[in-house]
Amino acid sequence: MKKLIIIKYGELSTKKKNIKFFITTLKENIESSLKGLDYNIKYDFGRMFIYSNELETVLEKLKYVFGIHEIMLGYELDTNDIDSIKENVLNLLKNKTFKTFKVITKRQNKKYPIKSMEISNILGGTILKGIKDIKVDVKNPELKVYIEIRNETSYIYFDAHSGIKGYPVGVQGKALLMLSGGIDSPVAGYLAMKRGIRIEAVYFDSPPYTSREALEKVKTLSKILSRYSGYIKLHVVPFTEIQNQIRGNIPAEYLVTIMRRMMYRITERLMKSINGKVIVNGESIGQVASQTLTSMVVINDVVSTPVIRPVACLDKLEIIDIAKKIDTYETSILPYEDCCTIFVPTHPVINPSIEKATLYENRFDYENLIKDAIKNTKIIKLSPNDKGEFDELI
Ligand code: ATP
Ligand code: MG
Repeated sequence: MKKLIIIKYGELSTKKKNIKFFITTLKENIESSLKGLDYNIKYDFGRMFIYSNELETVLEKLKYVFGIHEIMLGYELDTNDIDSIKENVLNLLKNKTFKTFKVITKRQNKKYPIKSMEISNILGGTILKGIKDIKVDVKNPELKVYIEIRNETSYIYFDAHSGIKGYPVGVQGKALLMLSGGIDSPVAGYLAMKRGIRIEAVYFDSPPYTSREALEKVKTLSKILSRYSGYIKLHVVPFTEIQNQIRGNIPAEYLVTIMRRMMYRITERLMKSINGKVIVNGESIGQVASQTLTSMVVINDVVSTPVIRPVACLDKLEIIDIAKKIDTYETSILPYEDCCTIFVPTHPVINPSIEKATLYENRFDYENLIKDAIKNTKIIKLSPNDKGEFDELI
């Protein structure tokens, strides 16, 4: 009997046509999350099996891989002979304390001579006979004994850990995430990855208005997000000159509108340069002046790329709940200013018009400034590593 991890991938099975691509991507993502560990992985009809001497560590890493529905720590027998299963189940149960139980059998090998229900009954009988003072409870058992019968092997397990579900990162292609140091955009990135989108991130850096720490914060957030995708490439755009021109030329109430139109323009171009398909950001309807529907229309007007806003319809508290769950919250609330908070006027316009925005921004030569900003953009590749330090490749 060999101890191993069994992986179930739920939602995937509904995507019949793409199944091969999904499975290959999932396997690659699992391999990338287990880099550096000693393990073997095997695929067989609807399951993946992982063998390793460090199963607990493997299990922890797998909790970050999208596309995994359930993770089971279990045992493999190199036979599906019913007597061997009986004997091994009894041996395993001797170390467990429980009063009630239930056997659940799945038969992947449909040619197997005994039906699932009957296997459960046979094993139930064996367990009742072999262990004292226990009984069967099909509704609410203290212990569930799972048996899976395959062509030449069988599996026994008791615990199923929930995976994070979703689709494997990469099956939907790539997007560029506008990542500020705030609470919303990391959550937006997480939710986009959950749908199978590979994320690269862009941050608009405005030193000296924004500090070195603000940039470090965005790097830390990228690193936390990279747990779900193996790595994240962060594009750091020098935005100071554009900010200066905006401040010098644009009426206060339109500062934010124009600043965000510039960010969108740059994001779209960078996105195309990395073969991305869409932009993702953390805008949430009504949260601030630049996120009223009218503002969104005026800001969105400068790009033709779809903008996905995963948190658009969530309440702040709902976003915070996710941020806490994915571990970005503590970093996001560190008190470093971002470029938006510094330039927010007392009364930003909540009903801007495209005509006025266009008129104001044509007061300076933004096209050349945008080209310069893109030319001087730096890319940092961030991945999680055990020491908690950054792997930086510029
Ligand atoms: P967040 O909490 O994500 O910062 P917010 O509520 O503070 O969002 P805004 O500051 O208006 O809202 O920003 C809206 C969205 O624009 C952010 O979620 C992010 O996607 C993007 N964004 C804002 N500032 C930057 C920046 N400096 N670099 C990259 N993206 C940014
Ligand atoms: Mg912000």
